[in-house]
Amino acid sequence: MLRFFRSKKQALRKRYFKKTFAGTFSALTLAVCLCAILTLALTVNLMVMIFRPAPKKDTTSSFPETSCAADPTAFEQADLLEAFFDEYGCAADQPITPEEAAASLNALREVFPEGAYWNHIGVEEWDEFTVTDIPCMHDIYGYLRCNTYSGSLQEFFPQFDPLKQCLGFASLLSDLVFGEDAPVKILQDATDLRPGDHIRLELTEHSMIVLTVEEEGITVVECNSDYEHCRISWDRFLDWEELSAYSYEMECITRYETS
Ligand SMILES: [Zn+2]
Repeated sequence: MLRFFRSKKQALRKRYFKKTFAGTFSALTLAVCLCAILTLALTVNLMVMIFRPAPKKDTTSSFPETSCAADPTAFEQADLLEAFFDEYGCAADQPITPEEAAASLNALREVFPEGAYWNHIGVEEWDEFTVTDIPCMHDIYGYLRCNTYSGSLQEFFPQFDPLKQCLGFASLLSDLVFGEDAPVKILQDATDLRPGDHIRLELTEHSMIVLTVEEEGITVVECNSDYEHCRISWDRFLDWEELSAYSYEMECITRYETS
């Protein structure tokens, strides 16, 4: 009987020992695992901190809040734009005259040269000031390579978001000449057009910016007039007769303070 109890006691002790040992072992394993995970996490964090690439400059929305605050290093044509903003960028305090608007527009000829394409083909970091010498070819490649710009006119064209091609380009020029805060008004009479005004053809979906107003007609600057290449072109002449033929679909948008 005593033997039976003794062996029972031994068996219990053995089991207890086994249990305790297993428990301690599990706790130890868990602790080691936790330590390993913690060390790994710290090492990875450290590696990321050491080898993290320098942050890229954000140029996706680089239109300056105020022209004077422009950061020209963000732009492709940095020197040209710096010169443009130095000359014309701080005049927004006072209403802009037609002569000033014409001068601003002409200064932009260098930033957006005749025959260049308002797109970012092959350009990794681009903005609305990027131009290339490669045509878009919308029929083949679609519209993903066209530049975009959503400035003060975006709210008037919610169906096109963001603005691109002729409309985006015209909106950009308009904001550059008059400032983003300039009023947006509709002209009732096309003969009141002045340099910098935006002609929008609603049905044929084309936009142009008036460059000069002459006795026989007007000249315009535009982009993507063939709807296919986003080519920038300056100085196209339209006589008054041609313009009146568009009157059924023409909207004239002005940014001048005075009418
Ligand atoms: Zn295009």
